Amino acid sequence: MTTIAATMPTTAATTGDGTSISGKAASTCETTLRSIRFPMTRVANPRSRTLAPVSVESPRRLDDALRALAATPGALVIAGGTDAMVEVNAGSRRDQLARGEVIAIDRVSELRRFRHDPSSASVLLGAGLTYTELMDEPLASLLPALAEASRTVGSPQIRNAGTIGGNLATCSPAGDALPVLSALDAVVHLADASGVRSLPVGEFMTGVKTTALASGELITGIELPVLGGWQGYAKVGVRNAMVIAIASACLATDVSTRSVRIALGSVAPTVIRCPDAEQFAAEHVDWESTSVEPDVAARIGSIAAGAALPIDDHRSTAAYRRRAVEVLVGRLVRRGFADG
Ligand SMILES: Cc1cc2nc3c(=O)[nH]c(=O)nc-3n(C[C@H](O)[C@H](O)[C@H](O)COP(=O)(O)OP(=O)(O)OC[C@H]3O[C@@H](n4cnc5c(N)ncnc54)[C@H](O)[C@@H]3O)c2cc1C
Repeated sequence: MTTIAATMPTTAATTGDGTSISGKAASTCETTLRSIRFPMTRVANPRSRTLAPVSVESPRRLDDALRALAATPGALVIAGGTDAMVEVNAGSRRDQLARGEVIAIDRVSELRRFRHDPSSASVLLGAGLTYTELMDEPLASLLPALAEASRTVGSPQIRNAGTIGGNLATCSPAGDALPVLSALDAVVHLADASGVRSLPVGEFMTGVKTTALASGELITGIELPVLGGWQGYAKVGVRNAMVIAIASACLATDVSTRSVRIALGSVAPTVIRCPDAEQFAAEHVDWESTSVEPDVAARIGSIAAGAALPIDDHRSTAAYRRRAVEVLVGRLVRRGFADG
């Protein structure tokens, strides 16, 4: 068995051929560039035992990470590795690995921080924050729907390693953080070696696992408003834990602007908002008592279901997904507003 001492996540500890990867805790190496042996040729040809070398760069500062990426624009970027290493094991990253460069960004300090600005009622999350960190205070109270979504992700090991930036960059329609980012109108901050730019999350997510991220760019942060109102997240899967969403929904309210935001996951090529349901909700809930009539809650759910564009696949049928949206959104409305 070959042991690779690198900044790879503990959750991706086995490469599928008996090779183990030591995780963060095991890595004591102080140099930033290390050569490791990686089973790239094994991935390309399962019968071959030849290992090809890959360099892993592990910068501590954002500038260094961006410079490294500019020098090797096709490098495989790994944060927690919980999506990327699955793809490596499945062989779908073999072209990228053939370039021989991996940039591990999990030690970049600027990506591991958050900043709460009470004057603008906003929070800037570093892209490298893990789900476990998003579930901690004070973030759990500032962004309760994101904490609730984080609690539904994978297992404790996945939540300790997986990052919000990785979820956004992967851009699966089932990514659990994404309906929350959409409902909150997140702004995605991006940087490359030559500068920075920002995009609304709705423009960043362009389709099934496709984004506006350009070559040489990293997601550095995600900016979210701190709303004054109830917010929550719910998903349906085939079991209660370690499950990919068949359908998911986030509802966020803001009492001062009397607005309701509803976003859906797993029921369209990417996460979608439900403007008709949002408008109906804003006009029909009782904002004075923050209550809602049961039939209004049910109607909001059915309007939201009308916005879904689900498909039949190995996880579910389109009809089940649409019905799941109706139920999830109706329940979120009843959780957010007292019975009228
Ligand atoms: C067993 C298991 C269970 C899971 N359960 C769930 C679940 O319940 N819900 C869910 O949503 N997901 C789940 N996932 C998927 C995964 O954990 C999440 O999508 C996670 O957020 C990915 O983050 P990461 O840091 O591990 O990303 P990585 O795997 O490190 O990277 C993923 C992709 O994002 C890119 N990337 C990462 N960070 C950046 C950045 N800052 N800038 C630019 N590109 C970047 C990488 O290059 C790569 O293309 C699960 C995965 C596993 C293995």
